[in-house]
This record gives sequence, structure tokens and C-alpha cells, in this order.
Amino acid sequence: MCTRTLWQLFSPSRLVNNHTMLSRLRTSWSLRTCLSVCRRAHTKEKGKPLMLNPRTNKGMAFTLQERQILGIHGLLPPKVETQDTQAMRFQNNLKKMTDPLEKYIYLMGIQERNERLFYRVLMEDIEELMPIVYTPTVGLACTQYGHIFRRPKGLFISIRDRGHVRSILDNWPETNVSAVVVTDGERILGLGDLGVYGMGIPVGKLCLYTACAGIRPEKCLPVVIDVGTDNETLLRDPLYMGLYQQRDRSQAYDDLIDEFMEAVVDKYGQDTLIQFEDFGNHNAFRFMRKYSPHNTYNTLCTASVALAGLLAAQRAIGKPITEHRVLFLGAGEAALGIANLIVMAMMETGMTQAEARKKIWMFDKDGLLVKSRKQKMDANQDAFIHDSPGDVHSFLDAVETIKPTAIIGVSGAGRLFTHNVIKAMGELNERPIIFALSNPTNKAECTAEDAYKLTDGRCLFASGSPFAPVTLSDGRVLTPGQGNNAYIFPGVALAVMLSGVRHISDTVFLEAAKTLVEQLTDQELAEGRLYPPLSNIREVSLQMAVKVVEYVYAKGMAFRYPEPLDKNAFVRATVWDTSYDSLLPDMFDWPGVSFSPRTG
Ligand code: NAD
Repeated sequence: MCTRTLWQLFSPSRLVNNHTMLSRLRTSWSLRTCLSVCRRAHTKEKGKPLMLNPRTNKGMAFTLQERQILGIHGLLPPKVETQDTQAMRFQNNLKKMTDPLEKYIYLMGIQERNERLFYRVLMEDIEELMPIVYTPTVGLACTQYGHIFRRPKGLFISIRDRGHVRSILDNWPETNVSAVVVTDGERILGLGDLGVYGMGIPVGKLCLYTACAGIRPEKCLPVVIDVGTDNETLLRDPLYMGLYQQRDRSQAYDDLIDEFMEAVVDKYGQDTLIQFEDFGNHNAFRFMRKYSPHNTYNTLCTASVALAGLLAAQRAIGKPITEHRVLFLGAGEAALGIANLIVMAMMETGMTQAEARKKIWMFDKDGLLVKSRKQKMDANQDAFIHDSPGDVHSFLDAVETIKPTAIIGVSGAGRLFTHNVIKAMGELNERPIIFALSNPTNKAECTAEDAYKLTDGRCLFASGSPFAPVTLSDGRVLTPGQGNNAYIFPGVALAVMLSGVRHISDTVFLEAAKTLVEQLTDQELAEGRLYPPLSNIREVSLQMAVKVVEYVYAKGMAFRYPEPLDKNAFVRATVWDTSYDSLLPDMFDWPGVSFSPRTG
């Protein structure tokens, strides 16, 4: 092994990140070689980058030996801390903070300094911290992105970079990427066009890939495609970080996305999971169709979690899904995704597609989707445009006329499940299903409190953003379900990555929904929950990954061979954990071995 190679092996980026290298070091180096390399490494240049790289930094948990060998002794306070103590420090500080954005900035700061500690803290208090790193606070953070920015955490590709996307990908320091989350920032949560400020979304999503499903962070790549923004406030903001131009809606935009997709597949392989997030509707639908062979998915996770809520509600009510009538408020991307999955679930029980579609109604900003309507409707909505059921001028009219067993709000337009709507649902149904899925919290169609109190605690409620448990006048405490798609996407992503699925069929999301409901206990259902507690999300995601792996192999969708016999062990063996690796080479002696030449 030449000196140059040794230096490369011991260089900070290789030393700690690369387990293969470490094991090679452990198995093939003699003590003398190790010591000689350690001596070379015993320079200030070697250790400091390890401290500055969040992927390798351990803070005060660098051991005394590591500090000495890596040349960082004296650069840290003398005490050697365990990760437990470090986590306690951050948890204590977080508890003192009341402002969610302050917590977000603080957490992102830990991620920028010490990745393993960040995930440890996040995973240990996932129920409390998920609303910070993900919806709703991530939305607020995106609106402020240029103001709170400290370090880039993903790849920025602009329309000016056409023709050079592959070389930009080559600049990303990790070579073993398996999951990409990409946005063009046009429709961030319910907040609209935030341009490159949308980077918070891929970063937040991928945090959950790791925290919930144990996917290694270096396998995850967040990307923002900057084609400009139509947000006038941002275009006038001196701290905005993207191109100061209107959104490019020309052929150049499509060409850029094509080039991006080709570059990702070329660099990281055909099996790379590419999740499109928060693109404008017109583009989201097109891209779903165009790029589906490359594993793109976004709305299906929402659809799956909403369907899981409905299946759980069905379990509570004891009425088969085919006997439900569902009325959506909103007829856009989320509504259509959920509706199509409900149709699939109904068809599984033997219903025809046409019969199932008749059970689903949609009401949008122009009213009920009916054939006689004058206002324009989209071809994607065709399946849910029915004959007019009578005079319907308002959503309340629609409820009273259609008599739904479930209303699902995905309009992003605020409190449109009025008191009268909720009361009407309570009069029509013994156990009305009321899902207010719009994000963030202030866009939810109603609050959990209104839904429960106005139906005397009889309704089955779920929301997109979290609501606190509600205490009724009779003392009962009901815990609202959070239809958070984080129940679905990390587990499905892990399964897809492990089994080499090339095209994620919609049936995978039906399977995921069923798996989620199976994990809800009767006790949790009695508490009003429609989903397992978020605090269990790690186990929920892993079990989901196991079921989905079983499913895709059984259905011939998996391309990774040989097929693992024990899928549970296969999935769990891949899970990344947050404990620190030792940065020391495996040093040992050869007792009894003499290196003196024989005499005599
Ligand atoms: P979208 O723009 O595709 O659709 C919005 C729909 O709502 C359109 O059909 C529109 O006509 C209708 N609408 C708007 N204002 C209305 C009004 N005043 N009255 C009746 N209908 C109205 O948006 P989308 O992607 O379908 O998302 C909608 C909402 O769903 C967003 O708030 C989003 O946060 C939420 N969502 C939730 C999740 C989740 O996991 N819970 C996931 C994705 C989206």
C-alpha cells in the first residue's frame, strides 16, 4: 500500500464514514502500519475536519485516545461525554424554548454540527419534534428560509444550469445516494410559491426517512430546482436566495426536469427513489405520469394515510368500506389521490369500479362536481363527476343532500367545516367521520375540539396537522388522529429501496394503509385514535417496510435478488443507528510472536 493510498484512507471523509474501509483497516493492517499512519495523521489538519463535519463530529464524545491520535486534544473541554449526556443537554435546552421556529433553528443547528446526536434527539422525542422538523413548523421555516439560513443542506439546481446538471450532481459529496426528494417550490404545503425557500421540505422529509425508518442519512439527497418564483414578496426580498425572475414555464423547464431525472438515474442507478414534493398541480400530475418508471410518488402517501384513517374508522364503526359515502371538500391533487385509493379499497371487496366511484363526491371552490356544472372541470376529475343530486349551493347543502358518512377536507382554504356542517354530520350519522386534512393547522377545515364537541364525542376525527387531545364535559378525553403521511412514506421508501422496486404501483399504498391500521390497538381506537401514537412511528415504519417487502416480492415487483428468506431480519439489519463509531483503527498486539531472527 503506497503512502498516498494510506493518506487517502486516513483522510477525514473516508476514515469514519466508510465502514468497508474501517473493516479493511481492522482486518489487514499490522500494528506497526497503524501506528505509522496514526503518526502521520497526528496533525492538526487531520482531526479538525472530523470535528467540523457533522457526519463525523462527536463533540465532547471524542474519546481521549481519539483526541490524541486525531490531533484534536485540547480543542475540546477536558471532559469526555457520553451521547446520553449530550442528548440530555439538547433536550433540556429544547424544553426551555416555547417558540416552534426557535426550536426548529436550534434543531437544525444540531444537525449542522453533529448528525448522530441530532437524530438521537429527534428519535427520542419524535412525537414532540416531528411537528417542528416537518409540518407545520417546517412551513413557517420555509417562509423564513433566507432569514434563518446558516448552512446549505441539499443541492440547488437552477434553470441557468441546463446542460450541466450531471456535473452539479457530481459535486454532491456522497456517491451512494438511494433516495432523492425534489421540489421546485411552487406549492409548499398550503403556503404557495416559495421558490428556493422550499428547500426546507426535502430536508424535512428526508430527516423523517432517517428518523422513522432508519435510512442512512448519506443515502438521502434533498434537491431544489430553481426556475424562479411568482411570489412578488420574495422577488422583492433582499435576503431571497434564488433567481430573481418569474417562474419559467417554457419548454426549458421541462427540459431541465428531464435532464435532472436522467442525471439522477445515470449517477445513482435505475432503482433510485425519486420523490416529487410540492410541485404545482399542473406539473405534479404530468410528472407523475411521465416519470412513474422512476419511482416518483407524492400524493399517494397522503392518500394512503387518509385511507388508513378511513379503514380504522370503519373498524370502530363496524361498517364495511363499501357502505360509506364520502364527500370531499376540495377536488385537487390530494382529494383525487385519496379518492382513487378508496375506490381501489372498495374494489378489493368485489365492488365494480363504477359502483365504487359513485360512492365518492367532490365539492370544490366552484361547487359540487356534477355533469351539469358550467365551471370548468379537469379531466383527472372525470371519474367523480356525477349527475346532479338536486339543488346544492353550499357545502352544507351538499352534506344534507348527499348524506355522506364521511367528509374529507383537502381544500387548503381554512375552516369550511362550519358548526352547521359538523352538526349536520352528527345528525346524519351515529359515528360521523370528519377528516380535516388541510395543512398547516390554521388551514384545517375544523378544529378537533369543534368536531368532538359538536357531535357529543361521537365523531371519528383526523387532521393533517396535530391537534391536542380534547376533554369533553363528561370527562372523556379523545385523542385526534393525525393523518400525517410520515406514517407511510419512510416505511414504504425503505421497502422500495431494499427490494429494488422500479415502479411503485398504487397497490403498494393500499397495502401500506392496511398495514398501518393493523398496528392500531383496540385500546387506541377506543381513545379516539385512528393512527398509532407517533411515538411508535419507528416500529410502525419498520413493520410497514417488512409487510411491503413481503408484498412486492410476492407480487413479482421486486428486482433485488436473491429474495431474502427472513424479510423481517432483512429489513431490520439495514437500520442505521445513532451510536457513535469508534474512529480508531483496530489496534492489537501479537502476544508471543518474536521478530528476532533465529540464532544458531
Ligand atoms: P389543490 O390545490 O390541488 O386542491 C385544492 C382544492 O380545493 C381544489 O379543488 C380547489 O378548488 C378546492 N378549494 C379551494 N378553495 C376552496 C373553497 N373555498 N371551497 C371549496 N373548495 C375549495 O391542493 P391539494 O394538493 O389537493 O392540497 C389541498 C390541501 O390538502 C392542502 O392544504 C394540503 O396541505 C392538504 N394536504 C394534506 C396532506 C396530509 O398529509 N394531510 C398532504 C397533502 C396535502
